[in-house]
Amino acid sequence: MTTANLLDFDLEGLAAFCEKLGEKRFRATQLFRWIHQRGASDFAQMTDLAKSLREKLAGSARVEALPVLTQQESADGTIKWLFDVGDGNAVEAVFIPEDDRGTLCVSSQAGCAVGCRFCSTGHQGFSRNLSTGEIVAQLWFAEHFLRKHLKRDERVISNVVMMGMGEPLQNYAALVPALRTMLDDNAYGLSRRRVTVSTSGVVPMIDRLGADCPVALAVSLHAPNDALRDDLVPLNRKYPLVELLEACQRYLAHAPRDFITFEYCMLDGVNDQPEHARQLVELVRSQGISCKFNLIPFNPFPASGLLRSPQPRVLAFAKLLSEAGIVTTVRKTRGDDIDAACGQLAGDVRDRTNAAQRMAQRRTVVLHPARKKPAPSTAQER
Ligand code: SAH
Ligand code: SF4
Repeated sequence: MTTANLLDFDLEGLAAFCEKLGEKRFRATQLFRWIHQRGASDFAQMTDLAKSLREKLAGSARVEALPVLTQQESADGTIKWLFDVGDGNAVEAVFIPEDDRGTLCVSSQAGCAVGCRFCSTGHQGFSRNLSTGEIVAQLWFAEHFLRKHLKRDERVISNVVMMGMGEPLQNYAALVPALRTMLDDNAYGLSRRRVTVSTSGVVPMIDRLGADCPVALAVSLHAPNDALRDDLVPLNRKYPLVELLEACQRYLAHAPRDFITFEYCMLDGVNDQPEHARQLVELVRSQGISCKFNLIPFNPFPASGLLRSPQPRVLAFAKLLSEAGIVTTVRKTRGDDIDAACGQLAGDVRDRTNAAQRMAQRRTVVLHPARKKPAPSTAQER
């Protein structure tokens, strides 16, 4: 008989499971606390549960973590884990300690089908969705490992960002119970403002997330017009910029924060010119959207054929946005020495989509609007 992995359940799901075992629903709360707050995986340890229940659980359920293939610690304290998800696939999670918080960057899929040109995961292609249990297992393992490692009794991870491998809104059914577990006071008790879903722009699912489980939203913009975004983020061909921004506007009615974060990866000569900044200002103004910009230094990898924008250009871009009244930050890169930064997460993916082949074809027909027709003022910069 196959047993249920209890990491697959949010509290509601666990209550339903307890009912099926002929137990009262409130037993689920105790069980949920043992698993998520105390990191227990052995039912025999759960001494305040009736012995009969522990026996039933032992026969029908398990708490199964993901096997850790590697763990790397950076000089700056960042830790990256590579987890085995079977069948030759692996996903990564990254812990980023800061003075006032600890952030875990979590993966949602083995690979990614969106195929953004600047993303290492995208270049790997797509293998499969992670289950709720596989998403939660990254947090479960990291939190309880870190408490031991850092000798802390209280919570170590205060923030979760769904910015690891994969497009979370293309794995919606598994994502939502995982988010609910992160938010639940009987589990990790994270505030909605401290759980961020990052998306390349799956418009219908942005609306569903707003209705089902509103958390902080980050949208990977990367381009100020459809021609360039079609090329960098192929999903734009399906959900162009105006539709995306309208969905962001609707999301704000439900969001725990009163702004959307726009991520913008700075690619040398591609999307980093003053003209692009001006177009961005116009775009967000015309939509009247309350937003912040987070400029991400591109983390290069050879197959992308792209380069990181020089720092002065990033700062000049940030200045143009700031001067137009848009709050703009430039992201610090962390964990550089262990390839733990954004977009470097590659895991090991059995590509079922021939992405590498498609990418190679795309590169030959790629448009670089900024390169083809440099504006006079920007030509000088190079
Ligand atoms: N699929 C989601 C979440 C995972 S990617 C999304 O695209 O939003 C998380 C962030 O890393 C996104 O903003 C993505 O654009 C960015 N990113 C991807 N590749 C990168 C790279 N090579 N350098 C810097 N940032 C990158
Ligand atoms: Fe997928 Fe996000 Fe990478 Fe694009 S940036 S390929 S959506 S993981």
